[in-house]
Amino acid sequence: MQKFEKLSSQLLNERDKLRQKIHKLKNRKNVDLNQKTCKTCGKEFLESENFNWSCKTHRYQFSGQMWWCCGKTKKDAPGCKFAKHFCRDEEEEDKDNEFGEK
Ligand SMILES: [Zn+2]
Ligand SMILES: [Zn+2]
Repeated sequence: MQKFEKLSSQLLNERDKLRQKIHKLKNRKNVDLNQKTCKTCGKEFLESENFNWSCKTHRYQFSGQMWWCCGKTKKDAPGCKFAKHFCRDEEEEDKDNEFGEK
């Protein structure tokens, strides 16, 4: 009888460990899901921090000496055009969900 009790408590422990593991995995998955890569500027961003001015890009190409849109002379100068980060994957996911519901 004692043996059986030991075994069942061991099993319970294993189950708790497994649960904790799953919980951790779920948490990590959420972080990855929230972190997206912008198709416009290529930077990683969080949907919760995606504002209308978060994505800074240039309207025109860098000519080699300056940006034709704003005249900034450094290639890594912050963009003059502000927009929201754009993530195409998100739209595709939404489409998949629509199909799933139908
Ligand atoms: Zn962006
Ligand atoms: Zn510019």
